[in-house]
Amino acid sequence: MIKVSEIKGIHLAYDRLKPGDYGTAQPPYSFKMESDLKIALEHCVDRLVVMGWANDIDTILSAGAYVNKAGAHSRGIAIDLDGVVLKNGTVLTAKSAPEAPYWRFAAMLALEFGVVLHRMYNPQHADHFHVDLSRIVEWGGAKSQVQLIQAILNSHFGYSLAVNGSLGFATLGFWSTVIGEQITDASSAFLKILNMVVEHG
Ligand SMILES: [Zn+2]
Repeated sequence: MIKVSEIKGIHLAYDRLKPGDYGTAQPPYSFKMESDLKIALEHCVDRLVVMGWANDIDTILSAGAYVNKAGAHSRGIAIDLDGVVLKNGTVLTAKSAPEAPYWRFAAMLALEFGVVLHRMYNPQHADHFHVDLSRIVEWGGAKSQVQLIQAILNSHFGYSLAVNGSLGFATLGFWSTVIGEQITDASSAFLKILNMVVEHG
């Protein structure tokens, strides 16, 4: 494992040391992680550049990467993301960020991480994104993935779907309309809508 306190010029900070620290600017902190996780986070920053957001972000707030608990955290390939501190001092948290930037950020994460647990997934993830590399980036029909598609269709394309993780005719139909083709290869259709949101907002 390696220690990482900065990703391509953006600081990493821990905002869970004391109650009340959540969503507040904190000094850089060294997180223990596998180098694959650092590389994935570097790719995320590359995408933030494409989105026009990278220059505005001073710090990414995290609730931890390597942690001695069950699952991908114990392997050093997971990180919990609480929010970002902008250079102008504004803090956007996973808990309170407006829908459109929140789901655009989620789409960006889903292009790098096979597992992205977001605030609609369950109450435990209401205040942070959990992302990890335990699965490759592809369509698996997971509840978190279906909800991501539904939330994106609502926040970026004006639909009003229930974000319930159930892949019904309405979700499939709107998804197909947005990408302009039939959904035959779901992984390709998944990447297509994620890329649309990341590249064009
Ligand atoms: Zn986590």
